[in-house]
Formats: sequence, structure tokens, C-alpha cells
Amino acid sequence: MTQPVAAPTVRTTCPYCGVGCGVLATPDGQGGATIAGDTEHPANYGRLCSKGSALGETLSLENRLLHPEIDGTRVSWDAALDTVAKKLSAVAEEHGPDAIAFYLSGQLLTEDYYVANKLAKGFIGTPHVDTNSRLCMSSAVAAHRRAFGSDTVPGCYEDLDEADLIVLVGSNTAWCHPILFRRMADAKERRGTKFVVIDPRRTQTAQESDLFLGIRPGTDSALFSGLLVYLSDNGFRDRAFIESHTAGLDGALDRARQIAPNAAAVAVLTGVPEADVAAFYALFAGTRRVVTAFSQGVNQSAQGTDKGNSIINCHLITGRIGQPGAGPFSLTGQPNAMGGREVGGLANMLAAHMHFAPEEVDRVRRYWGAPRIITGEGMKAVALFEAVARGKIKALWVMGTNPLVSMPRADMIRDALKGLDLYVVSEAVSDSDTARGFGQTTVLLPAQAWGEKDGTVTNSERRISRQRRFLTSPGEARPDWAALADVGRRLGHGRAFAFDSAAAIFREHAGLSAYENNGTRDFDLGALTDISDAAYDVNLPVQWPIPKRSGPRGAPQGKARLFGDGRFYTFDQRARFVAVQPPALALAVSDEFPFVLNTGRVRDHWHTMTRTGKSQRLSAHRAVPFVEVHPDDAAAHRLTDGGIARLATEHGEAELEVMVTDTVVPGSLFMPMHWGGAFASKARVGALVRGMPDPVSGQPELKATPAAIAPVAYR
Ligand code: SF4
Repeated sequence: MTQPVAAPTVRTTCPYCGVGCGVLATPDGQGGATIAGDTEHPANYGRLCSKGSALGETLSLENRLLHPEIDGTRVSWDAALDTVAKKLSAVAEEHGPDAIAFYLSGQLLTEDYYVANKLAKGFIGTPHVDTNSRLCMSSAVAAHRRAFGSDTVPGCYEDLDEADLIVLVGSNTAWCHPILFRRMADAKERRGTKFVVIDPRRTQTAQESDLFLGIRPGTDSALFSGLLVYLSDNGFRDRAFIESHTAGLDGALDRARQIAPNAAAVAVLTGVPEADVAAFYALFAGTRRVVTAFSQGVNQSAQGTDKGNSIINCHLITGRIGQPGAGPFSLTGQPNAMGGREVGGLANMLAAHMHFAPEEVDRVRRYWGAPRIITGEGMKAVALFEAVARGKIKALWVMGTNPLVSMPRADMIRDALKGLDLYVVSEAVSDSDTARGFGQTTVLLPAQAWGEKDGTVTNSERRISRQRRFLTSPGEARPDWAALADVGRRLGHGRAFAFDSAAAIFREHAGLSAYENNGTRDFDLGALTDISDAAYDVNLPVQWPIPKRSGPRGAPQGKARLFGDGRFYTFDQRARFVAVQPPALALAVSDEFPFVLNTGRVRDHWHTMTRTGKSQRLSAHRAVPFVEVHPDDAAAHRLTDGGIARLATEHGEAELEVMVTDTVVPGSLFMPMHWGGAFASKARVGALVRGMPDPVSGQPELKATPAAIAPVAYR
């Protein structure tokens, strides 16, 4: 339990990355606030990165959506919600409920997510609820489920403090999870923790590593398959753990031998010098306390799930999981990607980490009293928008995200929206590409922004924290959950959507997680089922699972680590080794598109810049969209540092400033993901990438698109 702070300072959580840092906000009474790190929050202990510390500079009301609109005309909330409910009913009647889809966001609070999921999957009867978190960490979710039988991150941030070796795969942690990187740097200083960084780019993180493996794009699983073979052949198996707590090693090992029998073969596949491969293998093998942290470079891939499992395999064979300073660790990108997973905000989940086994469907149906409970998976993000284009989806409700900038094939999506019967956007800003829609009926619903919203988020280490309200909402902005509940009531489900506060929603959500849960399900908030409004305010942050009577004298007490006892959530409680596929890029380069285009983040911007773009300080770090080109490629293609280049893929073009740098390897390019139509219409990542989905997770490939580049000559 955290100590109260003196009024008017409010304890809340940063709205950006999945580290989930605690923030102290002191409103100035004029719509602004001073921001400081919360010294009591276990994620950051008072520290904030450049983005978090600039939050006070992003609170201006400029470009806020203040009132509901229909087709550009201001209307009342009642008129807007009447239209939404009427059109949803009409679409369901004429085309069936599965002609309705929701596209949600890892920026939403858990309570918003819960109500959206309940409305769609239990009461409208459509399974098509997906989220921009599909683009963020769904491959890690799938890898967890294949290995552990549940979507459970085994470890916690303290493991980073206590590790002797931290392996960072596809993660520019120094820029994208800066406060965690500072914790790692502290560990390096305090106990000599070594860093190995595996990435096709020599990022800021790579520059601070002890060993950098600059792999060819897409070859991560070859590197870890080789490691599995090395660990097996050199006496580093934990035999007792493997025999008692796992299954499937032989099959995984056979496949790994076919892919990467030795360090020499790995060197050929990955492009990493054999000596560096050998050094990494020896370091991993010889260090008991090793954390392998992975992020978008692993997840945003057409083989992302296999990559994740190839990493987990190496922790299982050595029994290094759920122990202090040891385990695989998925770093989530968004502030509430984890909370969305908890309530079933992915198309392949139902709710409370339950899927579609008949008993799970029946359990959720009875708990909700749901008349139209779905019985199977819906379409994942890429397929969902393709279904919009094919006319299969007639009504789409987008909440808190900007797919016309961020989704693969964004221009196809923009055109597809024109065919919708109903297009609803819940947004805080009025000028995002997605808010200025293209459907026949566009309903814009003004949403509360950070500082105005009230609810919970869950960070990368399963820690549930509060986002608290400290500002008055401008105009008629309301919580997203309230708009959803109002529609639920209009559709005739008054009792099921009679929520009057975020705390009431949280209690119901906690109750579902504990409903008929006999300990065989990982996600359990049983101790919070009856949490009072006052306790909801002060008893968080806490890490799940938090079963009933979990702490002394009934105080809720979460778990820092799981699986340390060797019991997993599979039917036989054994973890699974997974035989992974040989590495291959989904789309091969060609004479026309000879480069591999990588995409990612810069240090000081967040997603499509709708908030960070308001801070001059943050915008100064990288002022314009750019493309990184290796000096050899720049010379061969007459590209000059600071000049303008046209970047082309099969799907679109962008004009960008050239940055000549040897941080990228020859043959590859890097472009940031942030700039969108409102800022620079010729620099949208979404318009360029194809986004081939991973066959298991559905997460699209965003790191390897064949591309061409040429200088632009202006007269
Ligand atoms: Fe916010 Fe992430 Fe920075 Fe923490 S590390 S202050 S959560 S952006």
C-alpha cells in the first residue's frame, strides 16, 4: 500500500510505455500540472524518462475533440449514442452481429477494455474485437501460451536488478523502455551485470553493450536454436527440471539441430562472426542468473511466435525461469497492453485470460448473464481490416488508436472505410487521420485524455496501477467505458451495463477472474473482488495473480515471480519446448525492392505523436521524419546526409530526410513509425508496410519489408 500524498498532488501512472512508471501530478489550477516521478512506485522509484518528465508540456487543449459529431456536425451525446445504437442494431439485423467490429487500443484503461469486450462478445454477439496491441506483443502472448499454457510473464523488474547477464533481443531498451534500462545500468555498476544486445541495428542500447550481435533481419530463431544445441551438447541441461517439469525437448532439439547445428552454421545464417556467436553461447551457458528480455524486434515478425519460443526453450533447458535474476521477459510496448489481455481485448481470447473451451464459454456466459455469448475466435487486426475492405464488416468502432497511420496497408484501410454503414471513432483529439473518417456515417465521440481518465493499467511485470484524474475534462469529453455502457443500455441491456464508476467495473472484472477459479487458471484477482472504492484508490499497485486470502490479514498481495516451483498452467503442469521453423523473411527482396526496411521508435516520441508532438522539447530530438542508410548504400544510390529520398515499397511511397549512418547494416534501411498524416503525409509507416501476419499470433511483420530508395531532386 502506498502512502497518500498531500493534496492537490495526485498519484498516477505514465501513459506511454509498458514500464508503467508512477507519476506525481500537481495541478496548477489553470489546466496544467507539474510532473515528478513517484518515489514509491516499484517500477521507477521516482525516475522518469524524457517523455514522462515532459508530460506537463503536453496537456494543452489545442486540437481536442470537445463535442460529439455526426458527419462533421456537432450533436448531443444522446443523439450520437442513439445513432450508434440504432445503426448497430440495423447492421446486426440485416447482416448478422459478426458484421460488427471493434478496434481497441493499448492506451485504453482496463475498465474501458472490459466494457467494450463485454458489450461486443457477450451482448452484441460479435467475436471481432481486436486491438493495436496485436501489433505490439501478441507474438509474446502466443509464445507464452505455447510454452506455459497461459499468457504469463514469469518474472519481474527486480530480476533485472539481480541478473548477472541481461540479453536484450530486438529491443532498443535505452530509448523505448528507458527507466528499465537505467535499472539495468545500475545493476551493471553495482554487480557487474553484462549486457548482450541482439539487433540488426547498432542502437543506443547496442552501443552500451558488452557484446553486440548485429544479426541479419529475421534470423533470431537461428541464433537461439544454435544456443539450445550448444546448451544440450555441453552439459548445461538442468536434467531434474527437464524430467519433472517439461515436455517436448527431443522434438525441439531435433529441429534446432536441423536449423543451426553449431556456431559455424549460426554464423552463416545470422551474419554474426563465429567468435561472437561462441562468446555469447559461453556467456549464457556459464551464467546462472540470466534474463533474456525481448520486444518488438522479436514480436513484430511473421515468425514472431517461433522467435519467442526459441528464446523460452533456452531458459527451460537450463531451468532458469521464475528464479531471482533469471527468466525470459517480454517487454510490452504500450501502457496497458497487458490490461487489455487480462479482459480478453484480443480476438483470440474471451475474457479474464479464458479462451473458447466449452466450459470457459459457459462460465463467462453465466457470469455476465450474456444472451449472445460468442463461441469462437474473431478476426485479428490485419484480417479484420481486410474484411472491412471486402465488405464483410459493415460497422466499425475504433477507440483510442490511429490505424490510418499505424496499421499495415493504411491506404487500403482508408479506402475501405468508405464502404462502412457505420464508422464510430472515440478520440481525445479532433484531427487524427482516423478521427476524420471516411465512412457513410461517421460518429465522433470525445474521449477523456490522460489526466482526466480514472481507472487501471497493467505494466510489463503484471503490476496493476492506477491512472487517476487530476484535470477537468474539456467540453463534453467522457470516459470511454461510459459511452460503451450507454450503448449497451440503449441496446436493452440495462442491468449488465449499470456501471457508475471505474471501481465498479474493476470489481466485476476481478470477480470474473476468480469465478469458479480453482487455481488452474493463471489470472486471478480474487482478493480484489470486493475491493471498496477507497481501497481501489490506495491498494494498488500490486502484481497479479492475487488470489483470495493471498496476504496476511486479508491484504491483497501479488506474486513477483511464477513457475519457480516448476508448475505451469498446462493440463499436466509441464512447460512445453516448441520445435520452431527455420528462419525466413515473409517477403524476399528483389531487383525492384533490394533493401530490407526496418521500422521502430525514436527516443522522444510516442506512437503517432498526438501527445508528444505538443512538446517542443521532445520534438527537438528528431524534428523531421528520416530514413537511416548505410554509408556504402548512400554512396551507391547518390544519397547525401540531410538530403531528401523517396522510399518505395510495393504498397506506397514516403519522402524522408536521409540520415547516413553505420548503425544500420548494408542492405537495410530504418524509418521511425511516428510521423502521420497530420504531421507529414508523405512519411507514414503504415502506408509502406505489407504486414504479413505470423500464422500463430496474427502479429504483422513490421521489421522487414522489401523497399527501394532514390534521391529526390527538387527544382
Ligand atoms: Fe513513461 Fe515509459 Fe518513460 Fe516510464 S519509461 S516515464 S512509463 S515513457
